Amino acid sequence: MTKIAFIGLGNMGNPMAANLVKAGHTVRGFDLMPETLSIARDHGVEPAADAASAAEGAEAVITMLPAGRHVLDVYREIAPLAAAGTLFIDCSTIDVESARRAHAIAADNGLLSVDAPVSGGTAGAAAGTLTFMAGGSPDAFALAEPLLRPMAGKVVHCGDAGAGQAAKICNNMILGVSMIAVGEAFVLAEKLGLSHQALFDVASISSGQCWSLTSYCPVPGPVPTSPANNDYRPGFAAALMLKDLMLAREATATSGGFAPLGSAAADLYERFNDAGHGAEDFSAIVRYLRDHAT
Ligand code: NAD
Repeated sequence: MTKIAFIGLGNMGNPMAANLVKAGHTVRGFDLMPETLSIARDHGVEPAADAASAAEGAEAVITMLPAGRHVLDVYREIAPLAAAGTLFIDCSTIDVESARRAHAIAADNGLLSVDAPVSGGTAGAAAGTLTFMAGGSPDAFALAEPLLRPMAGKVVHCGDAGAGQAAKICNNMILGVSMIAVGEAFVLAEKLGLSHQALFDVASISSGQCWSLTSYCPVPGPVPTSPANNDYRPGFAAALMLKDLMLAREATATSGGFAPLGSAAADLYERFNDAGHGAEDFSAIVRYLRDHAT
């Protein structure tokens, strides 16, 4: 069993760390917010006073933090203190540039590293069914994969440093665009006097079929488990969708890509967040579309 330091014990990190403890690993954790540390203690995580003491003697360090600057701060602080060969795994969703910089900090200190962002949300984190998208060398991935398993449904090695973040950003750009497309179709159906169920019954077995429709339908009724049936409680908050679409827009600009629909989706989710809906599930965008129909 492995000695793991877990830095960032928020909505995702806490249940992920709990699953590592359940799998028999020794987990020492740190978060800036003391209340998250006491939840972690209840799950069998040993609380540490700071990131450096969490990482002391650890064979692997896992980070689950809000953004690239937090990850780089933590890497700059603790990578120079870690024993050679310690494995660093960053599971946060961050920009590809920062992910590559984090790998470089690790390499400069003789450490192996993997970027391994996730999809599956807090429910997947609690159930241990997250999809991990990993980037890093084959050697680093081979060491990371068994540590990710207790938290995972699937673990996919996407390529070298930063490839996990690239896969996450591209996937979520598809998701943001497709949710808006499905929402627009339901609002148009309403205007045309077509019932939600009739549109669902046709599109779910026709060429309009997609995950946003069949697993996460943004109107109540056709998919009873979707947040639309629970007053759009997240699920996956609109603020996080905006974050991911902004990362996609930034990556499109820096890589010389062309993603007009991804950019339009970012604009729409920005307006939705600015209107005070950031804490709602991202599928609630259908209400915003409906409210703006004449
Ligand atoms: P969160 O805000 O609940 O947790 C982040 C934690 O990091 C907070 O508790 C914060 O105090 C802590 N933190 C910040 N800086 C720190 C530092 N320097 N040292 C120690 N702790 C520090 O966020 P979350 O929902 O757990 O998301 C974490 C990451 O996972 C984000 O990158 C997010 O985009 C990604 N993600 C979230 C979801 C989701 O559904 N919540 C799904 C997929 C991916």
